[in-house]
Amino acid sequence: MGKKLYDIVIVGGGIVGSSTAYNLMRADNRLNVAVVEMDPSYTRASTALSMANARIQYSLKENIQISQYTFEVLNNFEETMSVGEDRLNIAYRREGNLFLFDESSSPAAREALELQKSLNCRIEWWTPDKIEQHYLLYDMSGLVGGTFGSQDGHFDAYTVLMGYKAKARSLGAEYIHGEVVELVSSEGHIAGVRLRSGERLTSKFVINCAGAWAAGVALMAGVKLPVEPVKRQVFALDPAVKPDGPLPLTVLPSGLYFRTETGGQILLGKSMDEDPVGFDFSWDDKRFTEILWPELARFVPAFDTLKLLRGWAGLYAVNTLDGNAILGEWPEIKGLYLANGFSGHGLQQAPAVGRYLSELIIGLQPVLDLSIFRPERILENRPLNEGGLV
Ligand SMILES: Cc1cc2nc3c(=O)[nH]c(=O)nc-3n(C[C@H](O)[C@H](O)[C@H](O)COP(=O)(O)OP(=O)(O)OC[C@H]3O[C@@H](n4cnc5c(N)ncnc54)[C@H](O)[C@@H]3O)c2cc1C
Repeated sequence: MGKKLYDIVIVGGGIVGSSTAYNLMRADNRLNVAVVEMDPSYTRASTALSMANARIQYSLKENIQISQYTFEVLNNFEETMSVGEDRLNIAYRREGNLFLFDESSSPAAREALELQKSLNCRIEWWTPDKIEQHYLLYDMSGLVGGTFGSQDGHFDAYTVLMGYKAKARSLGAEYIHGEVVELVSSEGHIAGVRLRSGERLTSKFVINCAGAWAAGVALMAGVKLPVEPVKRQVFALDPAVKPDGPLPLTVLPSGLYFRTETGGQILLGKSMDEDPVGFDFSWDDKRFTEILWPELARFVPAFDTLKLLRGWAGLYAVNTLDGNAILGEWPEIKGLYLANGFSGHGLQQAPAVGRYLSELIIGLQPVLDLSIFRPERILENRPLNEGGLV
């Protein structure tokens, strides 16, 4: 088998890998960038199985700043990322996010709200009355209020992925259908990857963008990442009583979340402690009918009559150290970069992450300093603190 020479090899062509490829090519289109993707249909990629929500409601400054940049990118995406005559339609709907709180969870929320306001985020504290006036179907009993982010919302994640991919390719990035089975290194420096086909790709930089598969890829270089694939399920519902307008992504204190989808449907999910670790993509209608539906119907009594249309399962790449992204060069192997452990918010972080990694690799001053997410914290066992929001 022959060798091919690249400047940078990206393992995984989901939203993070594709945003990184695009940002590298945009910064310097003379670069030879290869993106290796084992499943170009993206059937199991988290990017294609997510809720596709972008929010500004975080309690860590950098996560807020990342989302502020995402808003900017998504606002201009159709204009700046369309290739040729085909105009992208990313269906960006800024219908808001509403986080609800009870007595015990509200102090942390108010603290986060102050931080968000200090960063010029448009987030408001809404009383139970105000919430019930806006969303007539909601029953706020037992809840003390909520934070509403009017700029938050959802988009068509698959189209955004295709947009990044097409633009990266138009600028010269090469997408290779293959599975990386080995990371090659020599004397503490990465030297490339080997594919299952036997082909060897040589490069001084390799970026692990393998999503829920990231720990396995890192281990190919002997690196132990605290990242686990955890199954998360989403359910599509057709309620008998339709809300009279879009519902924001609404998050209950228990973590149950739902929002309207086109056609009067509702999408709903909840991360649960018993969600299994592993590459399991089966979904379970009993979880909805027996556990989640009663909880939903307590908060939205009108939803006690509905049809479960379908469900699906995808994987969170959970960073078990602190639930935050791991970004940057692995300190023990020069040239091996990580963009892993997004723990359920990688879609909205991909624009800023791709830009940041391209800046690190090319040697530019980062526009947004994301060094707080550096991989060193894993070796030092120093978790980042992000308060309670999903
Ligand atoms: C149910 C659910 C809801 C979510 N909701 C949201 C949300 O509302 N907002 C949000 O921001 N995020 C959300 N997320 C998280 C988000 O989907 C992920 O964080 C994000 O898509 C991660 O992108 P990625 O490119 O890292 O991973 P992926 O999209 O999974 O891409 C990784 C790619 O790497 C490829 N790969 C892996 N190993 C190899 C290998 N050895 N060789 C070659 N290719 C390989 C895979 O085939 C895959 O295509 C959700 C996730 C789930 C499951």
